[in-house]
Amino acid sequence: TIGMLCLDKEGDIAGACSTSGLSYKMKGRVGDSPIIGSGLFVDNEVGGAVATGMGEEILKTVGSFLIVELMRNGMSPQQACEEAVHRIVKKNDRYKDFQAAYIAINKAGETGAYCIHEGFAMMKYQNDKNENIAVDFYHK
Ligand code: ASP
Repeated sequence: TIGMLCLDKEGDIAGACSTSGLSYKMKGRVGDSPIIGSGLFVDNEVGGAVATGMGEEILKTVGSFLIVELMRNGMSPQQACEEAVHRIVKKNDRYKDFQAAYIAINKAGETGAYCIHEGFAMMKYQNDKNENIAVDFYHK
């Protein structure tokens, strides 16, 4: 999945994601990416979030909506991404077998990113500068 969140000069937030789904998926499988609230959610009053990884787990926790609601209730984008990953890990003994990752942004332009395992990178473009932001792992 490629997910993107943008905050423009007027302070408006937009988000998008695109995916080919999982390798060897069952015919007719629908992952998280096309489901608003799971793979992607933006509320222009609060912020936005995008997911990548095991769609079934992201769907079960309605992850992107969860992150935006956590930010609405005062969490930073980073804290909200971490909590959304924890919700997946908490409920799943097999989290070592799959990846799940989120990025998020709020109205102030603060960003967050978190994932279960190594192997996830986030690019941040701000003030004409590209920054490659390394993401800390959940599972140490
Ligand atoms: N989230 C996608 C899906 O489950 C897969 C991906 O991130 O590549 O369909």
